[in-house]
Amino acid sequence: MSRIRSKDTGPEVRVRRLAHALGFRFRLHRRDLPGSPDLVFAARRKVIFVHGCYWHRHDGCRYSYMPKSNVDFWRLKFQENVARDAEVIEALAALRWTALVVWECETDDILRLSAKLTSFLNGINGYGGVWRE
Ligand SMILES: [Zn+2]
Repeated sequence: MSRIRSKDTGPEVRVRRLAHALGFRFRLHRRDLPGSPDLVFAARRKVIFVHGCYWHRHDGCRYSYMPKSNVDFWRLKFQENVARDAEVIEALAALRWTALVVWECETDDILRLSAKLTSFLNGINGYGGVWRE
């Protein structure tokens, strides 16, 4: 578990560097927005969350495994995390912000990730809700 916590900033830093290299301007962790999104592209009214696959339960991902002990506790904990994430996206949508979730495991493939970021940030199907490719 220490692996996941301590490396939490790794994927986020990768996304930041890439978005910057692609020429997009953004701010970090704007506390005045629901969920303090990791990257905020105010002019586009878009935000990016970089989610750890384990804590945020990336569906079908190999990092999103279930601990062997205290299963009931963890199940509840994970459900809360997932529910909170959904609430944040809804709250942002109500304010007409569009959100993209980048999963930790997606930051390994930089080419694919840059295609995704570009399509999200240049895409016109906002405002509000979760970005769908
Ligand atoms: Zn994943």
